[in-house]
Amino acid sequence: MPIEPSTDTSISAAASSTSSKAVPLVGVLAIQGDYQAHADRLQELGAKTRLVRLPAELEGLDGLVIPGGESTTFLKFLERGGFMDSLRDFTRRKATFGTCAGCILLAKEVSEPAQASLGTMDIGVERNAYGRQNDSAVLTAETALPGGELEMVFIRAPRIARIAEGTEVLARRDGSPTLVRQGHLLAATFHPELSLDARVHQYFLDMVRQNMHSRPAGTTE
Ligand code: GLN
Repeated sequence: MPIEPSTDTSISAAASSTSSKAVPLVGVLAIQGDYQAHADRLQELGAKTRLVRLPAELEGLDGLVIPGGESTTFLKFLERGGFMDSLRDFTRRKATFGTCAGCILLAKEVSEPAQASLGTMDIGVERNAYGRQNDSAVLTAETALPGGELEMVFIRAPRIARIAEGTEVLARRDGSPTLVRQGHLLAATFHPELSLDARVHQYFLDMVRQNMHSRPAGTTE
């Protein structure tokens, strides 16, 4: 594996991400939604960030956040220029965190209604699952993350209706998982970037670092 000591964030210099880099370079898909809030939070926690609007900008990233927004709008954009395939390939190999619409994009099965997705994460989600009365809510619940209860901001949130065996459930709402991990993939049905609590992003950055150290660049599943 080549050693790349540079932490330069330019695409050409970051052509290969390796375990020798101390500071992870995390992309935030910047098509729609509050991507800047994710980037700000990741920077506060010591990561370098890159806003991603083109497939080529995935090159050299150590991790990626797919923010909330409207998954149908994401799909319209991603279905052009092979972006969907590049993103699917990336999420198979590198640490990725999908929040809300991002969680829907990662899921293997999407219902209410059914729609295309990357399908990289072995979960099933129902879109807009909480009805009009409860479609947006701020709740506090127990979490497996250390440090006590977690605030969760839900905006027209999906519900994770099925998880594969071995999925780690880190938080729940009414019994349904709201924050789940499968290896190098993390998904939340809420918006952690809208809470002051930085634990979810910190947890993801720890995953990014683990993945940088355990999986050489270019390795596929
Ligand atoms: N309801 C949106 C969808 O189905 C997700 C909402 C969100 O990301 N906050 O794509």
